[in-house]
Amino acid sequence: MARYTGPVCRLCRREGIKLYLKGSRCHTDKCAISKRSYGPGQHGQRRTRRPSEFGLQLREKQKVRRYYGILETQFRKHYQEAVRRGGVTGDNLLQILETRLDNVVYRMGFADSRAQARQLVMHGHFTVNGRKTNIPSFAVRAGDVISVREESRKRDYFKDFGEILAMHNAPQWISMNNAQLSGTVQNLPARDQIEVPLFNDALIVEHYSR
Ligand code: SF4
Repeated sequence: MARYTGPVCRLCRREGIKLYLKGSRCHTDKCAISKRSYGPGQHGQRRTRRPSEFGLQLREKQKVRRYYGILETQFRKHYQEAVRRGGVTGDNLLQILETRLDNVVYRMGFADSRAQARQLVMHGHFTVNGRKTNIPSFAVRAGDVISVREESRKRDYFKDFGEILAMHNAPQWISMNNAQLSGTVQNLPARDQIEVPLFNDALIVEHYSR
């Protein structure tokens, strides 16, 4: 499965905001964007021209795509699904991104970053409603129970994880059972239940509607 393997701090610097791609390091003063708040590369410190309308739309789309760690083809598919659902496309898009299994595992507190969550899912450490599921883009639904697979609980990584989960604040729409290393999706998250940096999803819709 294709994924971005280049330097991730560069992506934050390109977008000019923290995208939280490196786990706990992002909350320390080692964060690259706190030290160098200009664009990456040789021309990063040049004075930038006022971006075009297209440029603004593109940057907004890239921000969201990179925040969730998704490549363009898959992101476009999510957008098409958001349009197909009807209603507010931007809200649908964020809900689709938020309910991907890799993101849910991250929100539950099993991983430090979405990239790590994605890897844990791909390695088959999770079940959805008791069935092993190793597809990061798997769309969870209301009522789904996501758990660490029985065999995986014996691994060093998951030992004593209940204590780690107890210190983590899962979103309201997931109810956690820390002792069982599992969580239940109470409802699909509404826009105001999704904690993301300030994204202007209307610009993304405009970008794909061109
Ligand atoms: Fe982005 Fe985290 Fe790197 Fe900071 S440390 S630039 S937030 S990935």
